[in-house]
Amino acid sequence: MKPLFPLVPLLLLAPAASAAPRVWAHDGYTRAVFDLPRVTTATTSVKGQTVTVKLGLSLPAAAGKLTVRGLSAYSVSGDTVTLTLTAGFAGARVEVLPAGGGQPARLVIDALRAGTPPAPAAAPKPAAAVTRPASTAKVMRPRVVLDPGHGGNDPGMQSRWVQEAAVNLDVALRVRRELQAHGVDVVMTRETDRHLHPNKALDLDARSRLAKTDEAAAFISIHVNASTNPAAHGVETYYFGQPMPGRSRSLAIQENGGGSIGQQLTRQATNSAQNLLGDLLAQAKLSFSRQLAEKVQANLVQATGALNRGVLTDAFYVIRNPTTPAILIEIGFGSNPVEGAKLSQEAYRERIAVAIARAILDFLNTR
Ligand SMILES: [Zn+2]
Repeated sequence: MKPLFPLVPLLLLAPAASAAPRVWAHDGYTRAVFDLPRVTTATTSVKGQTVTVKLGLSLPAAAGKLTVRGLSAYSVSGDTVTLTLTAGFAGARVEVLPAGGGQPARLVIDALRAGTPPAPAAAPKPAAAVTRPASTAKVMRPRVVLDPGHGGNDPGMQSRWVQEAAVNLDVALRVRRELQAHGVDVVMTRETDRHLHPNKALDLDARSRLAKTDEAAAFISIHVNASTNPAAHGVETYYFGQPMPGRSRSLAIQENGGGSIGQQLTRQATNSAQNLLGDLLAQAKLSFSRQLAEKVQANLVQATGALNRGVLTDAFYVIRNPTTPAILIEIGFGSNPVEGAKLSQEAYRERIAVAIARAILDFLNTR
């Protein structure tokens, strides 16, 4: 993989037992990696330009300046690691990776670039010209892409109670409102009942491309589940990977467009899942994706009381992009008489949306 090539000399130059982080600037984030003696817990808080991570173990004290885009300094003291973000960066993803591939356990901190402020709303003209003081300018948070699945020529699953594309859009718009209220910059793959391209593969490509070109900190695809068994119910959250052993392939094929196109895209996505296994950048991305999936799943189950069907992996084409943490949420079964009826209620969809938004804010370590 191309991005790995320039990293190799840096890795070789890094002193083996140094407490200084290895740092790399990527498109939308800058990554700092600290070696750990073993896997441990990490609790993160971001206040202003300071990222503080409390570990479940102590590291040798160290501190210094950093000259990479996004980060200006680090310090390690006992169980606390601190990074100082430069202007234009806000929020952080934090993950502890287990030892593997000849590397020790690692603390990975991604300093996230803030999104661009939204254009000022077309507010009614005040009677007198008032210039807004700079101090009221919103603090910008990282950018998140929300993908309401299906739309336009593809309605998704349909039942007596719900039409999937409409439910996905309604929930995504509610998630957007909640995130924006907390300063998060949100990009929607669609804001109306439309497809991005009449061809399903190109439609899904266009959606996942938004995560890359807009330097998103996370990509969240929202869907409603369906089963030929009307008793099936509950919530599932997926991140990209091999299908779970022994599971039916029908869901990924369905969400990848159904029919022969769904089968073809599922094959392609399954192949790229295999290719990701040896890629260090992709491994960190998958680890972040799993963390986000776990937070969303826990919040959703708590907020709705729905059956917890777990955090799972599968070859969903729209979340195969190898750089941005990405998940696909199945918020419930539209085919189930009880859950389908609930999904048709505004109050229930609002509960789902708030639960998803809170999980995203938690993932970005910003509240
Ligand atoms: Zn769907």
